[in-house]
Amino acid sequence: MIEEQVRDRLNWAGNYEYRARTIEHPTSLADLQRAVAGATRAGALGSRHSFNDIADSPETLISLDVLDPGVDIDEAALTVTVSAGVRYGVLASHLQRSGFALHNLASLPHISVGGAIATATHGSGNTNGNLATAVVGLEIVTASGDVLAVRKGDDDFDGMVVGLGALGVVHRVTLRIEPSFDVRQDVFTDVPWDAVLADYDAATSSAYSVSLFTDWSGDTIVQAWLKSRTDSGAPAPGAFYGGTPADRPYHPVPGVAADHCTQQLGVPGPWSDRLAHFRLAFTPSNGEELQTEYLVGREHAVAAINAMRDLAPRISPLLLVSEVRSMAADELWLSNNYRRDGIGLHFTWKPLQAEVEILLPELEAALAPFAARPHWGKLFAADASQLAPLYPRFEDFRSLAGRMDPEGKFRNAFLDRVVLGDSVEQA
Ligand SMILES: Cc1cc2nc3c(=O)[nH]c(=O)nc-3n(C[C@H](O)[C@H](O)[C@H](O)COP(=O)(O)OP(=O)(O)OC[C@H]3O[C@@H](n4cnc5c(N)ncnc54)[C@H](O)[C@@H]3O)c2cc1C
Repeated sequence: MIEEQVRDRLNWAGNYEYRARTIEHPTSLADLQRAVAGATRAGALGSRHSFNDIADSPETLISLDVLDPGVDIDEAALTVTVSAGVRYGVLASHLQRSGFALHNLASLPHISVGGAIATATHGSGNTNGNLATAVVGLEIVTASGDVLAVRKGDDDFDGMVVGLGALGVVHRVTLRIEPSFDVRQDVFTDVPWDAVLADYDAATSSAYSVSLFTDWSGDTIVQAWLKSRTDSGAPAPGAFYGGTPADRPYHPVPGVAADHCTQQLGVPGPWSDRLAHFRLAFTPSNGEELQTEYLVGREHAVAAINAMRDLAPRISPLLLVSEVRSMAADELWLSNNYRRDGIGLHFTWKPLQAEVEILLPELEAALAPFAARPHWGKLFAADASQLAPLYPRFEDFRSLAGRMDPEGKFRNAFLDRVVLGDSVEQA
């Protein structure tokens, strides 16, 4: 096992410095078990793409980044089992070469599977659940160092998938897969808000995945990205609610070159090269941006979007771009989509954290009538007392964490503040 003093102490955005004393990089399951069992306080570290302190520990962080991905496809069961440390882009390339696909991807393919499912990371599409909904099995190294294998349908499984790192270190994940499919990506610019909001569900059902990019000001959506499966039988999207079909590739942030974006202009290609917005080959080691996202039920989509448009003068000075996506309801206890079809109101901020943190309570107050649930891995202001009423299974999760980690080995400041409160005795 390689144990090293923390040299690179920063997350991807560079806005959070991990406080853990060490980061360990186990090279085998036995190594991982020893690292967990031997630590007084421990936490799992993914690919460091979260923007807050969710992935920290007062003592030892454990990264699975050097574990063999061990991609194991079960063609009969239509599942793939893989190390939780593998990045989606690597897994997607492997699956595509073997003729299989995941149902969806997030915007960036560099994020680890373990970190993404732990926070209910999502792509878009009215009928697409978030990435955690593809999980059908988990192998978790628990606080004692023992391995717990659970399958979909087992007691508490729905509480363990979006685990926020509070339950143990996920060693391997089994995901549902399907036969590979092709996707075309069409971009429309200057789409009138009125036309889309008049028929929101139909507009966001126009393709397998629809993303609306906006700065909230003005009467038009700056860009709409439609990702359409070529096997859907639907005609190619030639028009979108009065928007202008793009005649060149676009980056979501106006004025930025589209070189790092996945192929657009309606050219069909494998799902693995289209469902993310950015190419795997582009390796952003860090980012000059911050992110926030609030998820509301789809029945509130129009009102919540209009609430953000009303706040445009407050939002726009801090904003690089916003993206509105949709996700299908699921049964995962701490999923932002638990039992409600929803939309995500996402904000990519300029790296102005102090100013963003002043604005967040204002955004949360404006979205409170819609029971907005913040993305666990992005910046938000709410604490456990505000979040508990938003999640019907919140207390069940706290009790599960108490049973799986009675000594609080995996607790950290984030979990204390936003989920666990004083529900589990401090270690
Ligand atoms: C440029 C960029 C684009 C993004 N795009 C999207 C997007 O399209 N959609 C979206 O929903 N989100 C998006 N995000 C947010 C991102 O998906 C989440 O923050 C995600 O949690 C990051 O995963 P990670 O592997 O970096 O995990 P980390 O940030 O390292 O950790 C996040 C959480 O996962 C836990 N964790 C990590 N690995 C394990 C493991 N093996 N076992 C148990 N727990 C584990 C950690 O303990 C922590 O609680 C984006 C972030 C960035 C920086």
